[in-house]
Amino acid sequence: MTRLFGTNGIRGVVNQDMNSTLALEMGQAWGTYLKKTIPRPKCAIGTDARLSNQMLKSAITAGFLSTGCDVIDVGLVPTPTLQYTVKEKQFDAGIIITASHNPPQFNGIKGTADDGTELTKNVEEAIEQIYFSKLFALSDWNDVGSYSTWDGAIELYIKGVLSRVDVTSIKKQQSHVVLDCGNGAGSLVAPLLLKKLGCVVTELNCEPDGTFPGRHSEPVPENLTLLMKKVSETHASFGVGLDGDADRAIFVDENGSYIWGDKSLSLVGKYITQKTKGGITVTPVTTSTCFEDVVRQNKGSVVYTKVGSPIVAGVMKKNHAVFGGEENGGLIFPKFQFCRDSAMALATLLEILATEKRPLSELIAEIPSYEMLKTKIACPNEKKERIVNQLVEEMKNHQEITDIDRTDGLKLYMKDGWVLMRPSGTEPIFRVYVEAKEKHQAERVALFYKNLVESLMQRA
Ligand code: MG
Repeated sequence: MTRLFGTNGIRGVVNQDMNSTLALEMGQAWGTYLKKTIPRPKCAIGTDARLSNQMLKSAITAGFLSTGCDVIDVGLVPTPTLQYTVKEKQFDAGIIITASHNPPQFNGIKGTADDGTELTKNVEEAIEQIYFSKLFALSDWNDVGSYSTWDGAIELYIKGVLSRVDVTSIKKQQSHVVLDCGNGAGSLVAPLLLKKLGCVVTELNCEPDGTFPGRHSEPVPENLTLLMKKVSETHASFGVGLDGDADRAIFVDENGSYIWGDKSLSLVGKYITQKTKGGITVTPVTTSTCFEDVVRQNKGSVVYTKVGSPIVAGVMKKNHAVFGGEENGGLIFPKFQFCRDSAMALATLLEILATEKRPLSELIAEIPSYEMLKTKIACPNEKKERIVNQLVEEMKNHQEITDIDRTDGLKLYMKDGWVLMRPSGTEPIFRVYVEAKEKHQAERVALFYKNLVESLMQRA
């Protein structure tokens, strides 16, 4: 278990648990780690739009420099832009100062390996070990790292995205897109990209601002009400909302209706597996069955993983997957890079519309629908493992259960759906996800497991 790094790097409240001392020592620990195998590591650093970026960037940069690593500052960029830059420019590591969709008082440090993918748990553990030991390998006075800036990252990235979609067909469409960057780092890329794709763009919150004056950063329905309204008011082709560091994109159809991430993941998955005539796709166990339905229609298969985009990306790489992603708008295009990427998602959606020549709502209506219910069941941490094991025993011969999956917590498949119980790592609860064809079925299943867990707890 890593103590500092969570699912998506290190996060915390600025000048409390996310402070300049931590950033400095993290730079020293990480630099010490890199220097073990690379004589003169070159590290790219970038930030999202937050107010504390300069403070944390300066501190972590000082840490890297003190251990004899060179730092190349690429400025304010979306996370996928930094990741792509690391891969394309052959840097040895990438650092992005971001807290993604968290509130403005938060910030974070996220790292990438030399191929632009997020750090593996093993590397994070190794860096943490050095961090806590404080055994930093500081360089000699005449061997400290050099600092420089490079302002070519955004141009490189946009060129990369454009080279992977059918620009001619997309341009012919002349789509009208309402774009809501939520005052995040996407403001630097998405408007430019859309203009290069011949779109008419209505911009909302496309000025980077670390106080996030326009809306909260998470692209959930309650934060995208203005976007939805604007799409229907302006009769746009569709709308798109990004999170703070622009690795996730959520779409709104031409009627102004919010499209859940499961559906957009499935639409893109359907399109890609049609083109590749099948292939392996990867998604966490929490994703709706609609994704597997469309992938299977195209003779593709789905590999399910634990929750967490670095895990999905890692499994995709290992399996030579054609596509993958999460149900929160985080889509991964392996031909481009093994990271969630909102610009690729946006450009690919435009290509789909140019190919299909039908409104987005119609394409989404063709994706199978399920009812998903998310709830919690209280359970003390020390009882969680025992309860899960007892549940397996109770349910393995139950006539309703067709399959049991232990990839992440416990997933029980039934004829028309599934239930997933994931022990929370931070709270004394199980996160429960139920999917069924009808709402009343999902509610029945959720109640059944709530009662079952409660009765098992009383016995435990
Ligand atoms: Mg993000």
